[in-house]
Amino acid sequence: MKKNRFLLCLVLLAAQVLPAQMLKSPDEFLGYKLGSKYTPHFKIVNYFNYVAATVTNQNKVEQYGETNEGRPLLLSFIASAENFAKLEDIRKNNLRITGILTDKPGDVNAPAIVWLSYNVHGNETSGSESAMKVLYELLNPANANTKEYLKNTVVIIDPCINPDGRDRYVNWQTQMVGKIANPGLEAREHNEPWPGGRTNHYNFDLNRDWAWQTQVETQQRIKKYNQWMPQVHSDYHEQGYNNPYYFAPAAEPYHEAVTPFQRSFQVEIGKNHAKYFDANGWLYYTKEVYDLFYPSYGDTYPTYNGSIGMTFEQGGGGSSSTTILMDNGDTLTLTDRIAHHFTTSISTLEIISKNNNRVMTAFKQFFDNAISNGVGDYKTFVVTDVQSSRINGLKKLLDVNGIQYSYSNGAALKGYNYFTQKDESFTTGNSLVISTYQPKGVLVRVLFEPKSKLADSATYDITAWAMPYAYGLQTYAVKEKLPADGKTVTASQPAALPINAYGYLIKYNSFEDAKLLAALLNAGIKMRYAERDFSIGNNKFAKGTLIVLKKGNEDKIGDLQTAAKQFNVPVTTIESGFMDTGFDFGSSKVHFIKKPRVAMISGKGTNSNAAGEVWHLFDQQLNYPITLINADRVDNVNWKNIDVLIVPGGRYKFLTDKDANTNLKNWVRQGGKIIAVDDAVAEMATGEWGIKMKKADEEKDKKEDAKPSYEDLKKFAESEHDGIKSYIAGAIYKIDLDVTHPLAFGMGEQYFTLKQDENVYEFLKEGWNVGVIKKDNYVAGFVGSKIKEKIKDAMLIGEQNFGYGTIVYLCDNPIFRNFWESGKLLLSNAVFLVNQ
Ligand SMILES: [Zn+2]
Repeated sequence: MKKNRFLLCLVLLAAQVLPAQMLKSPDEFLGYKLGSKYTPHFKIVNYFNYVAATVTNQNKVEQYGETNEGRPLLLSFIASAENFAKLEDIRKNNLRITGILTDKPGDVNAPAIVWLSYNVHGNETSGSESAMKVLYELLNPANANTKEYLKNTVVIIDPCINPDGRDRYVNWQTQMVGKIANPGLEAREHNEPWPGGRTNHYNFDLNRDWAWQTQVETQQRIKKYNQWMPQVHSDYHEQGYNNPYYFAPAAEPYHEAVTPFQRSFQVEIGKNHAKYFDANGWLYYTKEVYDLFYPSYGDTYPTYNGSIGMTFEQGGGGSSSTTILMDNGDTLTLTDRIAHHFTTSISTLEIISKNNNRVMTAFKQFFDNAISNGVGDYKTFVVTDVQSSRINGLKKLLDVNGIQYSYSNGAALKGYNYFTQKDESFTTGNSLVISTYQPKGVLVRVLFEPKSKLADSATYDITAWAMPYAYGLQTYAVKEKLPADGKTVTASQPAALPINAYGYLIKYNSFEDAKLLAALLNAGIKMRYAERDFSIGNNKFAKGTLIVLKKGNEDKIGDLQTAAKQFNVPVTTIESGFMDTGFDFGSSKVHFIKKPRVAMISGKGTNSNAAGEVWHLFDQQLNYPITLINADRVDNVNWKNIDVLIVPGGRYKFLTDKDANTNLKNWVRQGGKIIAVDDAVAEMATGEWGIKMKKADEEKDKKEDAKPSYEDLKKFAESEHDGIKSYIAGAIYKIDLDVTHPLAFGMGEQYFTLKQDENVYEFLKEGWNVGVIKKDNYVAGFVGSKIKEKIKDAMLIGEQNFGYGTIVYLCDNPIFRNFWESGKLLLSNAVFLVNQ
């Protein structure tokens, strides 16, 4: 009996702890110790699905999308059983707090939503490994702490924002490493090949894409984000392996739009993390490097959406494999890296749980304030250019960010004109109106205000991005709240095109129109463009207008109709090729567009982001075929198969070395076209191509060097600050365009360029200086005083004939991160219109 009773006790005891044993830890599920090696993405997915299937009353997984390479994108929702049962009510209540949902008032006595995102950079690999441990400990019944925190928080885990990049790294590392991982730097597993695992399939940095949403991962994620609007967003990264751990508070500069609560609470969170790091003797730093300014990061974008947005940086990443010898003689292991990310994940949850009321109240205040008082100095942004198809791109951007807009008719106002940079009177006839009196008011301010407020201090990224410049749209910033009539302007849907016409005309104003051009070329439609303005009756058409003649396209009119509908572009039918003013369609001023066979340089030597931007533009946006040629295989190319070669930013022997580019030069002489972009132009300036970089005013420099100057006596501690005089991260300059050149068709008289380096070029003596920067063309963003001197009176967009062929110089990167919409038209013009 005694014995049996003892057994019974054991059975009872076992029953009590059974749930804990039932849920397998990552170690148990995977069959190896977390941190001993990297886990491929499908096994991470398996673990998250397994946990959701096991703890059904507290956890579920939702697949919110798929990557370019077909990997699933997941969110895992974790809550107490009580909250989990009413998760949808919690979500809706949260949206009511923000004012996005308006059916009834929101209640701040609700759980805070904490969203933890891991591994946005694919080769910062400890993130997703940590996510599994976090998930387990949140649901481990033996963990009394997390059980307590979940009473008033709901946790959303995105275990891997960038599965394609992560697997690119993990598959490579797994192939490189032996049974015993080698911590020595010289071992091959520490030397990741081009393009590295940081970015997604198209080499895009997903942590620069939150606001622009050019990438499929971001597009699908932000849709979900806007349905939840979390109070906290944590973004887990890795940095150089010698660096100590970084957590909030963030570094200066903060954008002015960051609220005092968002600022001060970052400090409280940081101190909570510090408590655990101190107890373990771990090294860390705060308030340095990672600022809160550029709006498209995983910390700033949530911040401008009312959240406490934070970046976390563990030492490690692509070069560190699973173990690496640090400069200080310590060995950093994947196990260490997981421990640190795990600690800050749980610590974040702890501090939010303990301050639930304050966090929820401040969150509500953030939105109440925007809705009732507007945000910033300029309360309303009025886009007056709503006739051109350019507006379609901007509307898409507003829609995906959940920004409301309306239309206004005929009010007389005063506002800041983005194009002239002056205060002017204007009327709002039929304008698009974006008000800051709305839940997303702060985001509107940050994306639209003409000059973002930045203290004189180093920032990690570009310092100017105002949307009217990026989209090339005539806009006014107005200080008043503007009543909007809510009427929408709908572009006239093209009616059925008559078959019996002489031809069809399409006005050419935007990248949307370039997409239509690409679609029509793909459909085999014979296309022409007008080099000069013309008119038929009262109908005026600007240079660049696309012409489809019926002759030769008889069986394609249906395709034209379909494409015009798809891109929402109106088509004008004409009955005659005789123009009332301007040239007839038989004139040599009307050019046939030969469908170009386009190639680009890719691979080692290329800046992988820059290559990815061109690739994505053609493959995903223009839907136009492009051949990717590796830079080290240029010698082997049969140039006869190619009409246009795009050379993205990078360092290339074949551009600088005379012997290496004979074939290429011959091809251009015989009619080929090179489009050199960004620092590829700088490379060409060092070779014998005919373009020269403009030097700073040397005479002046020499004079200054000659005599002693007290300015040379700098303080050691100010060395960083002094460097800023020669610093430009990304500022906006106005470029004056030669509107008669096909490169500038559809662009208007000026183009606003995002200037990211000090490189400018001498005016071309033989060729066309299509885009030049004159003095006083600076518009917005931080430019160091030494550089400011240099950027003037120079060429930045040009074309130079080379035999029968041509070279197009786009000296800045016009498609940077693919969000500079007007730059996409510039590159399209270079490909499709120049030298036709
Ligand atoms: Zn990162």
